[in-house]
Amino acid sequence: MSAPVVFAFFAAALIAGTVFYLFYYRNWRRQRELQQPFPKPWRKALKRQVPAYRQLNAEQKKRLERLVQLFISEKDYYGCDGFEVDDKVRVTIAGHACLLVLERPFSDYDDVRSILVYPDVYRAQGTESDGLVVSESDQVRAGEASSHGRVVLAWSECESAIAHPHSPHNVILHEFAHQLDYLDGTADGAPPLHGDQARNWQETMTKAWDHLRDRLDRHRKPWLDPYGATEPAEFFAVLTETFFQQPEHLLEAQPDVYKALCGYYRLDPRDFSSQRP
Ligand SMILES: [Zn+2]
Repeated sequence: MSAPVVFAFFAAALIAGTVFYLFYYRNWRRQRELQQPFPKPWRKALKRQVPAYRQLNAEQKKRLERLVQLFISEKDYYGCDGFEVDDKVRVTIAGHACLLVLERPFSDYDDVRSILVYPDVYRAQGTESDGLVVSESDQVRAGEASSHGRVVLAWSECESAIAHPHSPHNVILHEFAHQLDYLDGTADGAPPLHGDQARNWQETMTKAWDHLRDRLDRHRKPWLDPYGATEPAEFFAVLTETFFQQPEHLLEAQPDVYKALCGYYRLDPRDFSSQRP
């Protein structure tokens, strides 16, 4: 075989390999993963650790299990400060994270690579700005999400959310909502949406955000955790927590916001019925 023929052969093989990797490998790997049965101890952990799982119908339970299986096979978990990540921790985090994509594409989490788990709230360096001066400070955190595909969680806060499924707080839902927000490249409180849905989202959320800030300015009881009024990205993350944990309250306080979130998550968390925008 002449040198140009050998070169052409290897070039074609390289191109074919790259195309396979980019377009088929992930799906092929996922199909292969889903051929494995869902481990019974994981199902037990879902029942105990993810309160919403118990409300799902049989088909949705199956779907959540498949998502959890993919999530655990693809994401790397790391214990920090001596924390040991076991299957209970993996399933608890995956179960809550995948609730957000129960009716959405799992590919929404393609960019999430690693989950770091601390035993308790932890200290981290953060920047604060009062509008004039930006300063570094030591902050106590329950969790955080980064646009580089990293989520950090304090396990004590995760357990508190599980023990109080109707409280306004769930750090896992909060941090994974940030990951959905990052999908269009900006943390602006607006996940990727198109056409009328995007226009309606913008209008509805701007009105609700102004209303919340106005109530806080007037020292009136807010309808959402005031942390949601710190910036639009936090507004979406806190709204997501309230949507899943206190749907009746959000529906009563802000019906248009509730409807927009049903459209985005494609489900109604009151009964987990499927919703299409
Ligand atoms: Zn946040």
